[in-house]
Parts: sequence; C-alpha cells; structure tokens
Amino acid sequence: YADMAMYQAKNNGRNNYCFFSHEMRRSSEEQMMISTHLRHAIAREELSLYYQPKIDIDRSKIIGAEALLRWHSKDLGSISPEIFIPLAEQSGLINDLGNWVLQTACQEAMEWEKRYGEKLHVSVNISPQQFRTGILFEAVENALSLSGLPPERLELEITESLLLQDSDEPLALLRALHENRIRLALDDFGTGYSSLSYLRRFPLQVLKIDRSFISGLTVDQSSCALVDAIIAMAHSLELELVAEGVENENELTFLRQRGVEIIQGYFFSPPLPVEKFRTLLSEKEETPQVQSP
Ligand code: C2E
Ligand code: MG
Ligand code: MG
Ligand code: MG
Repeated sequence: YADMAMYQAKNNGRNNYCFFSHEMRRSSEEQMMISTHLRHAIAREELSLYYQPKIDIDRSKIIGAEALLRWHSKDLGSISPEIFIPLAEQSGLINDLGNWVLQTACQEAMEWEKRYGEKLHVSVNISPQQFRTGILFEAVENALSLSGLPPERLELEITESLLLQDSDEPLALLRALHENRIRLALDDFGTGYSSLSYLRRFPLQVLKIDRSFISGLTVDQSSCALVDAIIAMAHSLELELVAEGVENENELTFLRQRGVEIIQGYFFSPPLPVEKFRTLLSEKEETPQVQSP
C-alpha cells in the first residue's frame, strides 16, 4: 500500500480555469502593489517573528517554538502571511525573506539559552522555492555559525509539495541538511498528497498533523480515524509527532490518550511577539498557561 495516498481537496482554485473578471484584475493589481511594498519590508524593518510554543504534554514543558513571520507595512498596515508568503514565493523574494527569518530565529533561540538557560529548538518554515536555488544550505550554515546555535536545535518545516517534485535536488539537499544534524519536519501533514513511500525516502524526523484534522476530532468520526492512522504510521516509522492547532481540552484529551506527546495550538498559546515569548520563559511555569497575544 505504498501508493495509498491521503489527501484532502484544497479548494484554492489553483487547478481551476479562471475567467478574467474586473474583480480579479483589481485583485492582481492589489497583489502587485503588495509585492512592491514587500520588496522594501526588510530594509524598512517592517518584519518581525512571532514564536508559538510547542509543549511536551507529559512533562508540561515548552520544548521549542515555531517562528512565524509577521509583516506590518508602514503604508498598508498588517498583512497576513497567508497573503504575502505566496506573493513572495511568486516573485522570488522568498529567498531574502527566508534568509532573514533563518538568521533572526537562530539568534533568538540562542537568546533563550543565554538569558534563561533554556535549550529550546526553533522551527522555521521553508518554502519549496527556497530549495530551487543552491543557497539554502549556505543560508542555514550561515545562520547557525553567526548565532552559534547547534544544528540539532534548528528544525526546518517543509511541505508535502516539495517531496512531490520531479527533480532529485530537494532530496539531495534534505540529505545534506540531515547529515549536518539539522532536524526536518513535514508540515501540514495530510493536506497534500503524501504516501508512505515518501515518508521513508526522505530523511524526516517529525510529522506535524495538520490543524484541519485536529479541529475535526470532536465533530466527525472520519477525522478521528485519519488521526489514528497518522499516529500509527508515525509510530511505526519512528517519527516524532506534533499536533498543530490544538484549541481545546477535548482535542488534547483525544491526542493524549493516543500517545501524541507534542502539542502546538491556541489552547496553550497563540504565536507570541518576542518579548512575550521571553516573558513566558522567564516565568518558568510548571504548567504553561493559556496566553493572549
Ligand atoms: P504553518 O506553518 O502551518 O503555521 C501554523 C499556522 O497556524 C500559523 O498561522 C499559526 O498562527 C496558526 N495556528 C497555530 N495554532 C492555531 C490554533 O490553535 N488555531 C488556529 N486557528 N490557528 C493556529 P500564520 O502565522 O498565519 O501562518 C500561516 C502560514 O504562513 C504558515 O502555516 C506557513 O505556511 C506560512 N508562514 C509563516 N511564516 C513563514 C515563514 O517565515 N516562511 C515561510 N516560507 N512560510 C511562513
Ligand atoms: Mg509550520
Ligand atoms: Mg502547519
Ligand atoms: Mg501552512
């Protein structure tokens, strides 16, 4: 059953034919305008990283954090990463943004150690486009050597679409990163097409169960069955599991009963600005409390 693909239709219209309409023209102009502003976002210091804690529920401990990019444009206001990341990917700007994120996140993870003695890992999202140029490996090595962060405390979150590419290049690069002890996580698992053979072929350590399955846990039986299957698969392939988007106690209980140990979601904390995340660490609470952003 290596070909058994799990997928969920993504209703983003990418595979649909679109007819040109007035509204779409306006929206493409809007996109162009956003891209133009985005080009100056680094220089104008409009970017920041938020950090969302990852909790080990048995030990009630923060074990790491995912870095999530935020853009507050001085001209346009705050724009969601769901909007500007795809634009950055289309325009090639994602490489500059991605390098900034890598450096900033690695430096911040070292701050947590220096200030609070917390040796947490930091997870950074990497777009498939960043694998196209040869510079990702160098950018990762640079971020690590400039910050002094040990490679095993950097985790790169990649998506299933990267594993489906025809070229062998992503695999070679992932292997090189793995050989250098950088952790690799598969993000949004279950939303694309992924099969068991991909999971074996690529040097992954972590699977992140997508939020859409977690939110289905308390409402439909099929989400429960899917999550059960993902858990069984991860255990047998000896992959670490992270449940994303855990929002309430029922979901937490379901996951805990089935042996999922690492949880990320609003139930514990939304992504926090850097000062708030530092405060959380400085308090060294036994049990992480629900935070407001
Ligand atoms: P992702 O990597 O899957 O990140 C998780 C998203 O779920 C984040 O959205 C986070 O704020 C949100 N989230 C976390 N817990 C909960 C919850 O309990 N409930 C709900 N409803 N949502 C929750 P965000 O920050 O808006 O980021 C969206 C996506 O943008 C990310 O999805 C990632 O694909 C992309 N992204 C963000 N930062 C970067 C980056 O630095 N580089 C790249 N390439 N992509 C990024
Ligand atoms: Mg992610
Ligand atoms: Mg995700
Ligand atoms: Mg995502």
